[in-house]
Amino acid sequence: MANTMKDLPAFTPQQISLSPAEKTRRKRKSIIRAAEGFFLLLTVILPLSILNAIELSLDDWLLAVTACTIVWGLMLLIIITKADRFLAFFDPHFFVVPALGAVILISYFAYLMPDLRILVLGGWFTVLLFGGGLMTFRQSILLSFAMGIGYMLSVYAIAQSGYPINLAAEIGQVIPFWVVWGYSGRVTERMRMKRIENKMLRKELSQYAFTDSLTGLYNRRAFENEFQRRKELLRGGAYLGVLVFDIDHFKRVNDTKGHEAGDVLLKEFAAVLSRSMGDDACLARLGGDEFVAIISVESLNELEQLIEDIFYDNRQAIGGLFTHSCGAVLTSSKYSISRVLRVADTSLYEAKARGRDCFVVKDLDEVSMALATAPKVDESLGDLEQLR
Ligand code: GH3
Ligand code: MG
Repeated sequence: MANTMKDLPAFTPQQISLSPAEKTRRKRKSIIRAAEGFFLLLTVILPLSILNAIELSLDDWLLAVTACTIVWGLMLLIIITKADRFLAFFDPHFFVVPALGAVILISYFAYLMPDLRILVLGGWFTVLLFGGGLMTFRQSILLSFAMGIGYMLSVYAIAQSGYPINLAAEIGQVIPFWVVWGYSGRVTERMRMKRIENKMLRKELSQYAFTDSLTGLYNRRAFENEFQRRKELLRGGAYLGVLVFDIDHFKRVNDTKGHEAGDVLLKEFAAVLSRSMGDDACLARLGGDEFVAIISVESLNELEQLIEDIFYDNRQAIGGLFTHSCGAVLTSSKYSISRVLRVADTSLYEAKARGRDCFVVKDLDEVSMALATAPKVDESLGDLEQLR
């Protein structure tokens, strides 16, 4: 069966979700942004360290830079080698793993700069903000729990190194932080739900924008997109067949049985065509009782044979209730959609003129050649001249 509303996203993936290459690009960009944030922090701290405004030796500063380079270098390596796909089952946006890297770095910074430990801890909010809309509530709670544990381990290590510290007071400080982090987890969860809602709305809108509401087939715009896409994929020796179908004397149905009966017939004809065109075809309603399909073929003969088979199937399905005509074109990648449709319409016009219930196929290369070699003003050209 040719396309129906259900498989619409097949030709408009960019409009609904990002391509894998774009996803990778975005992940890489996020890692670079996060690394920039950490290195900026270290750059601001350097003069404070040199001026002895904080207790951080140059060696420790260099250790912090090295730790940053290792963590963010590793994250970049994961993205570049596409190893993140092995983590996708629990971290599809590749946020949780880098955030765990940030936990390690922040804890290490707290250890290196005990004076600034609360400030460094505040930096965790920035990490949570980055995850807005990407993390589930559970993930943000898990990460914040890891941050609290990381902080307490640093404080313990600071106390072990002889730094005067009140462990009970430090734990007391972490608890309110946990509460606030938990609250921000709720906010990021809400952002995530909104993001999902947005994505679904975009998908729905895209379906409306590319669907014919009566038949559920693609509309003209979707058809033009698909033609363009298939044209770009054409390789040597391959052609596209563009087939325009039109119900014969459809107006009579409207006039004698009413518009609703006409609608039922259009839907029925859409279903008949959808079945006879096969899986490879793209089928659309251009408007009124005119439908168009694209199929991949290798020659004019093959196209003619296919249309004959399609006509046979359609006639069987319609069972003499009405007839239809078809104008078809064999085209290579050279021609624009408007040119292809113009020639297909002329073929359809010829089929109608031949008495309807038949098809006319044209090779666009031949039509163009005939036009190129024809004298400029020659009334005998008739229909051909209209193609210019
Ligand atoms: P021909 O054999 O030359 O194709 O003649 P026809 O009677 O089929 O006429 P034509 O294809 O030119 O006209 C199509 C008609 O379809 C005109 C219009 O009133 C009607 N129409 C257009 N859209 C719809 C629709 O959505 N529903 C219904 N029921 N009729 C429609
Ligand atoms: Mg008609």
